[in-house]
Amino acid sequence: MTTSSTASLPTTSTPDAPVIGVLALQGDVREHFAALTAAGATARQVRRPEELAEVAALVIPGGESTTMSKLAVIFGLLEPLRERVRAGMPVYGTCAGMIMLADKILDGRDDQETIGGIDMIVRRNAFGRQNESFEARVDIEGIEGGPVEGLFIRAPWVESVGGGAQVLATFDGHTVAVRQGNVLATSFHPELTGDHRVHKLFVEMVRRA
Ligand code: GLN
Repeated sequence: MTTSSTASLPTTSTPDAPVIGVLALQGDVREHFAALTAAGATARQVRRPEELAEVAALVIPGGESTTMSKLAVIFGLLEPLRERVRAGMPVYGTCAGMIMLADKILDGRDDQETIGGIDMIVRRNAFGRQNESFEARVDIEGIEGGPVEGLFIRAPWVESVGGGAQVLATFDGHTVAVRQGNVLATSFHPELTGDHRVHKLFVEMVRRA
């Protein structure tokens, strides 16, 4: 999962589709592009503050949250991201993206920054300690048609949520999907399984926002 592999990603477009950015500092950007396009959105890479200003919403991919945090600071994106989230921009974070959206994290690096947006405490690599990578079916509130296929890769779990946050799914007794207002986060990667229902839910959130 490197930044360079995304350099040639085209801007996909569907008429009347909401324009949703994918934070392209690091991680599985390409897969989110495909999932967003399949879910009816126009996807764009976001690496610079000017690109962030042009999107209606944002997906933060999986990858490595410590690296993403460092690159967000270097690219001058951390404060603009915090401002847009505070202003109500819809955001969906998967795995490392969930970590980036947590107001507080456990087992992070000392200098690790998050964007915040969900009143939750997320523990990094929580499932990873038990099981590096696995696929599981997860029932998500608000998503019909049975459980979603989710890929967990050195995945975090949500240790606790505050009053404003709503738990949408648990797996093995741990919270793995949360929503607070327009901000959505999952511990797992639905973009790697071909099941686009979580992206469809997010696109619907963006249309309503
Ligand atoms: N363990 C990674 C982190 O701390 C997350 C893994 C992933 O996004 N698949 O950022």
